[in-house]
Amino acid sequence: MKKKSVLPILSAAFLLTAGCGAQETPPQQNIPDTAEPTAEAEAPTGETAPTEAAEPTEASEEDAVTTGGTPWINSELKENITADMATSPKDDFHLYANKEWILNNDIPDGYSGWSHYQERGYEVKQQCMDLLKDESIEGHDADLIRTYNSLLLDWDARNEKGVSEIQDLYDKILAAESIDDISALMTEKESSEVAYNLFGFYAGTGLNDPETNIVIIYEPSLLLTDSAEYSERSDYGNMYYGYEKDMFVFLAQKMGMSEADAESCFDTAIDLETVMSEKIYSTEDQLNEDYYDKINNEMSYEDVIALAEVFPLDDVLTSAGYKYNGTYLVTRPDYFEMLDSIYTDEHVEEIKDLFLVNYLLGYTRSLDRETYDKANELRSTYFGVNGTLPDEEMAYNQVTSMLPTSMQKVYIAKYGSEEDKKKMEELCQQVIDTYRELLSENEWASDEVREYAIEKLDHITIHAAYPDKFRDTSKLDLTGCSLIEAETKLAWAELDYNISQIGKKVDHEMWAEGFNILDCNAFYSPTENTINMIIGMMGEPFYSSDMSTEELYASIGAFWVGHEVSHAFDSGGAQFDAEGYFRDWWTEEDKAEFDRRVAKMDDYLDGIVAFGDKHFIGGNIDTEMVADMTGLQCALRMASKVDGFDYDRFFTKYAQMNASLGVYSSELSQLMQDEHPLDYSRTNVPVQQFEEFYETYDVQEGDNMYLAPEDRLIIW
Ligand SMILES: [Zn+2]
Repeated sequence: MKKKSVLPILSAAFLLTAGCGAQETPPQQNIPDTAEPTAEAEAPTGETAPTEAAEPTEASEEDAVTTGGTPWINSELKENITADMATSPKDDFHLYANKEWILNNDIPDGYSGWSHYQERGYEVKQQCMDLLKDESIEGHDADLIRTYNSLLLDWDARNEKGVSEIQDLYDKILAAESIDDISALMTEKESSEVAYNLFGFYAGTGLNDPETNIVIIYEPSLLLTDSAEYSERSDYGNMYYGYEKDMFVFLAQKMGMSEADAESCFDTAIDLETVMSEKIYSTEDQLNEDYYDKINNEMSYEDVIALAEVFPLDDVLTSAGYKYNGTYLVTRPDYFEMLDSIYTDEHVEEIKDLFLVNYLLGYTRSLDRETYDKANELRSTYFGVNGTLPDEEMAYNQVTSMLPTSMQKVYIAKYGSEEDKKKMEELCQQVIDTYRELLSENEWASDEVREYAIEKLDHITIHAAYPDKFRDTSKLDLTGCSLIEAETKLAWAELDYNISQIGKKVDHEMWAEGFNILDCNAFYSPTENTINMIIGMMGEPFYSSDMSTEELYASIGAFWVGHEVSHAFDSGGAQFDAEGYFRDWWTEEDKAEFDRRVAKMDDYLDGIVAFGDKHFIGGNIDTEMVADMTGLQCALRMASKVDGFDYDRFFTKYAQMNASLGVYSSELSQLMQDEHPLDYSRTNVPVQQFEEFYETYDVQEGDNMYLAPEDRLIIW
């Protein structure tokens, strides 16, 4: 079974744990199979809108080059920046602080972008690649990761197997003739993964009880990644359409389908998804403030199965092991009315086509060299990602994606440090202590809300570096497996683990479940009220033991810890209480004032243009921008207590941590699909809110960085 069905959804479906690392890897997450895998890696889900043979838009840099963007040039597109360009902190602070870095760095082969996150990420990756080669490391986890790593790198074996191991299920899907055959595919164990094409389910915490794992039922992900692409296809949707169609046609021909049939099969799948997309939340819906309210539909098993009259919901959930006598959360109950309408004998061919497309695309990374090379070629064609990762790096990315627990445990055994962990805890506490002052001096909230905000702050649990407890991997055994057998085993193990969690209490000691502590990133979890400052980010330029106070405050104070703490009080996090329950603790007036402030920010962000006619979407990115700004506000408060504080050094460090480059497709992806604003704005928008910045660089009315005091956006 393919990885996509199981691993992905667990952390992805909800956005409850928001990865914050600036740009981190958002574009790469969204671009298929690139350098940085994520738990939900593998075949991108997306769909396609209209079926007219849209001329696939290649990732052209033309648009980017010909337009500047306002009020600042998008300096993440390297072609926008030349050595003779004059820079000034008064006009574009991000460019001023990063011009040299931009000119001196390039996006490496196989990557869709490059930033300090990736630079630090690569440092950890290199350590891990060395660990994978080190035969002297003993233990079950080391054996597991080495075994899987060798399977990935054994091209002779992969080439010999070709597509032989995926032929059986492919033929089985092809042989289905009636809707009953489709039901049989979804309920028989060896083919049950196809059910995930029509709806998803997993055990995890809902919104009303952060202590207990319930079953979440949600709409499937789509080939074009965003349901909005099916009503009006954007350049972004066209990139996906082109990439996935070509990739599928290539794979289907390997399986024996004709080129014409494969093309038509793909378009039929897209047609079906076009119908489904009408009952699937768009990215914009998901990033909207009312999303939690919309999806919070708890019900009993009886109520769940009553949602579908025709679709065999009961049979699928029962055979998959997800029937139990507890609470279910259905993110979109009316999705199943739509599913009923297409679950008929007349639609069997369309459903089969959708199954075939996702089935084959799910194996893009696990077949022979020819397939791997084809995927790289198409990524270059459609996403502008040039070159290929070294095999060793490709393999590591897969290892850490499929065996995250084992890889993390082996890494910690070698590089974990109790001293660093303690140091990080202390730094977090120092930021929280300053934050308390900031909240207590807030001028617009009522006493009641201010006091509760402080209570929530004081309830934040600090998770530093790495957890002491991970899930048990002792039963995993990949001995004698082929690559696909190994991945199938791992996917089933993941599924079995997830089933074992249904109805169970959450084990908070295993706090890294759902993300990887080797990633260069940081997280706030609203349902646990925790900040997670992980070892993957604990290196240059974000942290080192010999940083100056200014650098430390810019990094830990503003950029990192301050940012994560602020997520507890952004427009998403503020909907959860001190214990992580989805509960309104606001007075009506305070909420109205908070909303007014966020709306003002949204309006401002909406007016920023990245390139062409592509402007920022304030509603998508305001939570991250609130976190950036409030983090900076907190750090400036820390700075105000230091005699002779060097603000130039502080602001420069802050801007430099945001330095990044991206290919056009990744910029577009981040602009349209991500809650993180483009990095240049993550420097320029936060700094221009604070008087210290104006004083340090003598910014005056008329300068490009200037915002009139009444236009400034302070949330807290
Ligand atoms: Zn964040």
